[in-house]
Amino acid sequence: MTTIRRKSLTHRCAICGKVYYGFGHIAEPVAPGRCCDVCHAQHVVPRRIRLVVDTRAEQRERRE
Ligand SMILES: [Zn+2]
Repeated sequence: MTTIRRKSLTHRCAICGKVYYGFGHIAEPVAPGRCCDVCHAQHVVPRRIRLVVDTRAEQRERRE
């Protein structure tokens, strides 16, 4: 993702498509690129928690 924009303070969210200000968050694994605060809290964080839980469950199964 190397899109050069003149207005470096505004970004388009990779998840909801809305324009947001500031740094934003890495949207992966939900979407490539970056996303807004709202999508990060509502989509990216729960998905990451689920990934961690799944990975731990897998590791537990392998160990037992
Ligand atoms: Zn968003």
